Amino acid sequence: MTLGFGVVGTGAIGREHINRITNKLAGGKIVAVTDVNQESAKQTVDQFGLDAVIYPNDKVLIADENVDVVLVTSWGPAHEATVVAAVEAGKYVFCEKPLATTAEGCMRIVEAEMKHGKKLVQVGFMRRYDSGYVQLKQAIEEGFIGEPLIIHAAHRNPTVDPRYTTDMAVVDTLIHEIDVLHWLVNDDYKTVQVVFPKKTKNALEHLRDPQLFIIETKGGIVINVEVFVNCKYGYDIQCEVVGEEGIVKLPEPASISFRKEATLGTKILTDWKYRFMDAYDVEIQDFMDAIVKKGEPQGPDSWDGYIAAVTADACVKAQQTGEKEAITLQERPAFYRETTVCETV
Ligand code: NAP
Repeated sequence: MTLGFGVVGTGAIGREHINRITNKLAGGKIVAVTDVNQESAKQTVDQFGLDAVIYPNDKVLIADENVDVVLVTSWGPAHEATVVAAVEAGKYVFCEKPLATTAEGCMRIVEAEMKHGKKLVQVGFMRRYDSGYVQLKQAIEEGFIGEPLIIHAAHRNPTVDPRYTTDMAVVDTLIHEIDVLHWLVNDDYKTVQVVFPKKTKNALEHLRDPQLFIIETKGGIVINVEVFVNCKYGYDIQCEVVGEEGIVKLPEPASISFRKEATLGTKILTDWKYRFMDAYDVEIQDFMDAIVKKGEPQGPDSWDGYIAAVTADACVKAQQTGEKEAITLQERPAFYRETTVCETV
């Protein structure tokens, strides 16, 4: 069975997913595209030689009977309306983060999906498909380090666009840690506090950088995440889990080591796209395979999108108040069971 994909948003990540579905992965075909910028949609069809219909908007794309899956890669504020319409039409959805820009918007998607009666939506939190995070989760679940007590994490970018603002450190950057860390330790978040260390001279006037997020879970684990988006030296993702019996640490991306000019070294990536390239492939392949074999996606779901939105709101509030802010989630409906470790990595 080949799943027909209709793509809403043919920007950077939209084209990357089109490329992997068309040229790398098995089981999917792009049959329709749309973008508010129709010229971008047309260029994309030409660029990849697609046999796909170019639609003027998401509504008509969703209505196409050849579209089994709606791939939502437009900008964040447009996601909610497309996802709700697709779910109401009974289409599967792969939605890039954010699921919606507000917790209320995520809840509207949750309600639409529960009303439909079957899980249709997966959110693009690809870190759960990164082999390093999968190994960390397996080690924790096997009890290799005993009970996890502390997580030290860091998300560092060499530099960011001048339009990047302090709250974007949460909604664009920390959001991936927000999703992957509660999944890693299978716990819910309780509070967050933000500390601003001395500001780097490399950040623009309007941006507070670096930032330190201190998050407590309901189970008592303390997580600290450094977000430092002008670190200069590279794109660097760190995660170390301290347990009662030992420590596990995210592996560094595979790279040759070199001996040169009296130095023993390893190069560090500079572009986020390459750090999780394999994870994006595994994520989309797993999404397609799960639909075919199990009838519904098995990855991060609408409830995970809701958790991310509520947590992000609390983090932004904590940036503004400097206080410890509560992360208050509604009770998880039985419809949304815990998502498990990715089986295909
Ligand atoms: P982008 O290059 O700006 O692409 C977004 C595209 O969607 C643009 O072509 C934009 O058109 C179009 N668009 C905007 N509103 C639309 C609407 N209502 N209907 C149809 N198309 C619409 O952005 P991107 O980097 O690809 O990001 C897209 C989404 O993916 C964002 O939500 C982003 O957070 C997410 N993302 C996730 C990851 C990840 O690691 N999982 C990585 C990158 C991006 P115009 O250019 O004309 O506005």
